[in-house]
Parts: sequence; C-alpha cells; structure tokens
Amino acid sequence: MTGPDAPASAKQPPVLRLRNIVKEYAGSPPLRILHGIDLTVEQGELVAVVGPSGSGKSSLLALLGTLDRPSSGRIALEGHDLGALSDRKIAALRAHRIGFVFQQFFLLPGLTSTENVATGLLYSGESARRRRNRAVRALRSVGLEHRMDHHPDQLSGGEKQRVAIARALVGSPGLLLADEPTGSLDSASGDDVIELLRRLNADGTTVLVITHDRERAASFPRCVGIQDGRIAFDENRPHAGQPGRRP
Ligand code: ADP
Ligand code: MG
Repeated sequence: MTGPDAPASAKQPPVLRLRNIVKEYAGSPPLRILHGIDLTVEQGELVAVVGPSGSGKSSLLALLGTLDRPSSGRIALEGHDLGALSDRKIAALRAHRIGFVFQQFFLLPGLTSTENVATGLLYSGESARRRRNRAVRALRSVGLEHRMDHHPDQLSGGEKQRVAIARALVGSPGLLLADEPTGSLDSASGDDVIELLRRLNADGTTVLVITHDRERAASFPRCVGIQDGRIAFDENRPHAGQPGRRP
C-alpha cells in the first residue's frame, strides 16, 4: 500500500484466508459437504471451531491444513494462494509452517517419546543429533522431561497427546491445527491439553482447535460455529474464561 493512509509497517497477511470454499466428495450425485465457507484467521489468534458430528469440521481442517484441496474457492496460507502452488510446494509449506494434532495421537508404537517428536523434523534437513536435541527441548516445553525414553504404551492418554503436541510444535510452525485433541481424554487431561495449547498461543503460535464440546469452545477468545457445512456464527469473546475453568 502507498499513499497517505499507508501504515508505518506493512501488516502481516492473515495466516488463513478462505473465500467461498466448497467441498464435494465424488459420487452420483456428488455429496456437498462445505457450502461456501468464508473465514479469515489472523496471526496470533486462538480459535475454536465447534459443531456437531458430521457438520464438516474435519473436512474443513483438511483444507486448512493443505491435506486436501477444495472443489472450488480460494485458500491463502500466510499470503500464499494455494491454488497457484504445485503439490510439492504445498507439501513443503505444510511441513514447515503447520503442525497437526489429532484425537487419536498417531504416535509410532516402536519409538520413544523423543524419537516420535523428532519425526516432526524429518523434512527439516537437520542432522539426527540436532533433531534429537530439539525434540528433547520440545518435550521439556510440554512438561514431559521425565517421559523422554518411554514408549507410547507406557504413557497415559494425556501424556500421549502432549507428545503429539511436542511433535507438532518441534519445527516451530506458525499455525497449529488440532482436530478434537481432547476427544480421547478424561476431562482433567483434556483441560491440561487445552491449557497447553493456550500457552503455545500466548508464545506466538496461531492455534485453531476443532471440538464438538460447546462448553470448551465457549472458553476461547474466538469461536466459529459450523452447522451443515456452513458457518452458523463467528463470535469474538475477548474476555472468555480462563483455561480449564469450566463455566
Ligand atoms: P465432522 O468432523 O464435523 O464430524 P466430517 O468433516 O468428518 O465431519 O464429515 C462431514 C460429512 O462428510 C459427513 O457426512 C461425512 O460422512 C462426509 N464425509 C467425510 N469424508 C468423506 C469422504 N472421504 N467421502 C465421502 N463423504 C465424506
Ligand atoms: Mg471430525
């Protein structure tokens, strides 16, 4: 921007910008799951996406995370128009800029916590020693310094999810996407995981969490409701409750 109204420093592009996103799955007739989604997420936001089972949340997350392409509409990630990029470029962007956390953890059973976290750096081009050191630091940051050499079957559900979060953040992504991260956890461990995500957000990571738990979603500063593949509401609650404090 130029001219008298130009800001002193250029504004960063939104982390995500979706315009009229439609997603259909093949079939006759095709099944339309997302019906023209418009959504912008700015750097540093902490967003909950809430909706009932089957409303299209995971389909939306796959698009936000560049794991899938929309049937139509435009998505920009940190200002990059994904429709204009090759699969290879998109994969590189994903590997460096996005961390994923899923309900089912997806830890590799034969690996220790440290080794699992280090897999988050496989595409970084760094040496094995440096990957290991970064994994150890990431595990410390999620409070698991005493579980470095454990295998997943020696960990509680909450600990497994913290290992998965460490793996997601070890490469310092700008955006963390979590799909029902508390869905397999008891309520206390779930509160811990949400609190951890809040802390990562306070440290600068943009975080988007999908949940079907309306109470949890209501504690987020921004809450986007999905219903039948459409945005039903998009509310900012700057004074939302503290982490883990259920209303
Ligand atoms: P949510 O995560 O909110 O539960 P999903 O995004 O998983 O919802 O699914 C939304 C709808 O899309 C559901 O009706 C589901 O059955 C359908 N769906 C999801 N994935 C596929 C697919 N690969 N092929 C066909 N239909 C799908
Ligand atoms: Mg889902």
